[in-house]
This record gives sequence, structure tokens and C-alpha cells, in this order.
Amino acid sequence: MMSQFYEPVIGLEIHAQLLTKTKLFCGCSTQYGSPQNSLVCPVCFGLPGALPVLNEEAVRMAVKLALVINAKIHTHSVFARKNYFYPDLPKGYQITQFHFPIATEGALEIEVNDIKKTIGIERINLEEDAGKSIHEGMEDSSEKTYLDFNRSGVPLLEIVGKPEINSPDEAVEFLQLFRTILQYLEICDGNMEEGSLRCDANLSIRKKGVTELGVKTEIKNLNSFRFLHKALEFETQRQIKLLEDGKAVRHETRLWDSRRGETRPMRSKEEAHDYRYFPEPDLPPLIITEEFISQVKETLPESPQEKRARLIEEYQIPVYDAKVLTSSRRLADFFEHTARICQNPKQASNWIMREVLQYLKEANISIDQFPIQAEDLAELILLIEKKETSLRLAKEEIFPEMLQTNKKASDIVKIKGLGQISDEQKIKAIIHQVIENNPTPLKQYLEGKQQVLGFLVGQVMKETKGKANPQLVKKTLTSILNSYK
Ligand code: ZN
Ligand code: MN
Repeated sequence: MMSQFYEPVIGLEIHAQLLTKTKLFCGCSTQYGSPQNSLVCPVCFGLPGALPVLNEEAVRMAVKLALVINAKIHTHSVFARKNYFYPDLPKGYQITQFHFPIATEGALEIEVNDIKKTIGIERINLEEDAGKSIHEGMEDSSEKTYLDFNRSGVPLLEIVGKPEINSPDEAVEFLQLFRTILQYLEICDGNMEEGSLRCDANLSIRKKGVTELGVKTEIKNLNSFRFLHKALEFETQRQIKLLEDGKAVRHETRLWDSRRGETRPMRSKEEAHDYRYFPEPDLPPLIITEEFISQVKETLPESPQEKRARLIEEYQIPVYDAKVLTSSRRLADFFEHTARICQNPKQASNWIMREVLQYLKEANISIDQFPIQAEDLAELILLIEKKETSLRLAKEEIFPEMLQTNKKASDIVKIKGLGQISDEQKIKAIIHQVIENNPTPLKQYLEGKQQVLGFLVGQVMKETKGKANPQLVKKTLTSILNSYK
């Protein structure tokens, strides 16, 4: 395939569920996992006479994001009805923003393979979520579909990116960065599996060097970074093949089928409905004052990029470490807390990047649920530094024990006798014992075979169950061996 002559043009549309306590237009709770249809009221259903009232907290969150991506915040925006019929939408319309969204013209800088690139963001708007159809899990699911309206009216931010992404890698990087920002701002938990962060993509193909856009398809059901990457890769190849074969790309909506690893048509855009948008008569225009914007500005936390730069500067850690550690705000906090107590940022970073992250990954939990406190990890690092235990014992015995029992490192060292042997007399005695038991290596060493040194060090470590200070063993052993010469 002549794919080197073509490039994909990709735009992402993101829906982020906002972490407000209550819904966008009523006081119902947004609690995830509550019993079905327990968080509903007349406003959720759009019953006659029920009037929506805008949740100020959701507006605040939208403004936060708009500020961080340098978007233009509109002091005057308008809610609109998007009309369509679907069982999970009892009102027959979704309240969203159309002609006058809350913010437009933002941008986000991504970096792929050391190349920086700015991706534009066309618009951000507030809208309500729909309910949920339940097709499985009920005893008569083969005949009936059930509806759960707990989600109807939950606030969403719809973020429409410009079609300025040119590879699946860039798309994944863009979405990852976006998720990190939402999590930093604590306005969305970013959980793609539970659907609190959703992503659709549109993709078209063009010959490299050409500026006009080709016919695009929209791809839905991309609920993980892996699926996003795979779906875009598949769709790129599918469209290139059509063009190469002299066929046309159809403007349609396609669904990513993760089991088959392909996108397939869902509905054609020609038969798409007209949403008949019109201003929501039950809500006044949303007016955002400069004063409100500056208040929100004061509550903004340090951005991931700012934090990254500060960690490199303040703790002298490598760029790579800073990048990993700032992947979540809580992880960065955990690092800073540990580093400040043990006064050894590089060791703190090493432990977090290897042992801690590996544990989080295996247990599939976040740093908030990590069983060891930052001060306890710092204590372990200090014990190693003061040579009260060895790095090996710390990794193989103490750290796993801390994870399991929640005990402090110093207590585990005391109880289990995992202290490091740094007493030279003790080590000398063991070395003499080892040499006595192994006459051949000694002879070989005296004949000039330096390699047996490692074997003898190993024997001493074995004899002490790994508790001897290895540097001290090597030094003492060398001087004893040389005394035989
Ligand atoms: Zn309600
Ligand atoms: Mn939407």
C-alpha cells in the first residue's frame, strides 16, 4: 500500500463528566453506582412544569478548563435544545450549547517523539448527559430493554478539538494530556472504563502536501487509549485502500468493534436527523463576569507542565522522572512528601517509579489507595542510607512486608532481624570461615584469577543471608586475600 503518500487528518471530540455533587439543572445527586432510578426528579424527566436551574459549580469547572487551555471565555453564552427521540432521553431533547458556547479557540501543546505541536480546540460547551439503556443482565433481557435515569442531567463538558492531529500516536498523546489536565483540575476523574471520559474521533485521508480535507467518518466507542489507537490505525488503512482502489469514502458514523479489531458502519450521515436546535426558553443566557473569571483564576492549581518544570529545578531529578511523577497530581504530591522527609529526591523517585508504580499497576489501584504512607517510604529510604539495612533486603523483604502488614520499616527490621551487618569484626570472622571452607578458590586467586573474588563475596552474602554490607565485604575480603600473598 502506498501509505507513505497519504496522511490521516484526525479531530477528537471529548465528553468529560464533571465532578459536581449535583446534576446540571437540578439538585439530584450524581453519585456513581447508586440503585437504578434512585437519583431522579421531575426536572430529570422534563415533566410539565419542572424548571431547570443552572449549577454554578459546573460553570466554574468549565471556566477552569477554558483558562488552562487559553480559550476565549464568552461572557454571554446560550443554552439550546438539541431535539431527538431516544428512549433514554425522556424530554425529547438534550440541553446543550450550540451557536453560543461558553468558550472557543483554545489550544494544547503535545509532544510526540520530541516534536512539539499545538492542537487547536474549537469549542467547549456545557451540556447534560442522557440516561442509560440496559440491554443485559435482567431476567427478561432477551425481550426487554430497561432504562436507568440516574445519569440523565449529569453535567458534561463537550470539548471539540480541531482536525489538526495527523497520527494515532498524536491522538493518544492529546487525549492523555487532556485527561491529566482534567484530573489536575479535579473537575473529572478521567475514568474511561466507567464512561466518565468518552472520546469520539473523526478521520479523513488526504495526499501529503494537500490542504483540502477529504470525506471524513466519525468513529464511536473508543473507551480506552488502546482502542483509540487501534481504531484510528484501522480506519486510516481502510480509507487509504478505498482511495487507492478508486472508490469513495462514505460520510458515515462507524463503531469500533474491539473483538473483531475493526470499525464498521453504524449509520449513514445522509439519513442523519436534523436536531432543530433552538434557544432553551426555560433558561436565561449565561452571563459570566470578569470578576467570576478572576475568582476562578485564583483557585487554579499548578499545571502539569509547571509542576514538571518545578520538580526538575527544585529536586534536581531527570526530565523523564519528572514526566512520570507528574502524570497525576496525587502521585507528584506523594513524591514531594517522600523526598522532603528523606532528603534524597533521586532515591524517592527511584522507589516510586519502580516499586510503587509497579504495585499500583498490578493491584490496579491509584496512589490514593496505596497502603504505604509517604513518611513510611521515606523512613525506609533513610534506613538504607544510614546502612541500617541493605537495598536488597529493603526491596525483597521489608517493602513487601510493609505492603502486607502496614508496619513501619524500622519495626520490621527489628522484629525480623533484617538489619545490615556493617560490623567489620563480624564480617572478618565470616570471611575466614568461608576461605577455610573453600580452599580451591583461594589458590586460584593467588594464581592471579581475579574472577573468583565475586564467587567468594557471594559465599559471604549467602552465609549472612544477604545481610552483610556488600561494599564492606568486598573491601575486607580483598585485603584478607592479599595478606595471603
Ligand atoms: Zn433531578
Ligand atoms: Mn455532546
